[in-house]
Amino acid sequence: MNPRSEEAARQAMAAKIAAISDHAMSTTCQRCGAPILTARPGRVAALDVNLDPTPLAPVEEVQALLEGRLTWHLVIGALGTQRITWRGTTHITAGPARHPVLRDHHCPREGTQ
Ligand SMILES: [Zn+2]
Repeated sequence: MNPRSEEAARQAMAAKIAAISDHAMSTTCQRCGAPILTARPGRVAALDVNLDPTPLAPVEEVQALLEGRLTWHLVIGALGTQRITWRGTTHITAGPARHPVLRDHHCPREGTQ
């Protein structure tokens, strides 16, 4: 295989991986305009999640959980693809996260109501 077709094959594979539904995409929140990551994690549940793109420190994760938010792993693949997987309680109690931890995006409160 010559280097050009090898590169083309690599790009085709990257495109295929990018098409997988749990691939994270950078976008902006339609309500508040904040930068977010959006993804549909899992192959069965049609669940779109919007996430704040900044990884959480452990204390920030605790705060997010106390606020009733879910937290997620940002899994970065060998080709630089970003996938979102749910971070369940078994992950949380297993010790320090092996991937950056993100939380659900909540729009900032507007005004008093
Ligand atoms: Zn928002």
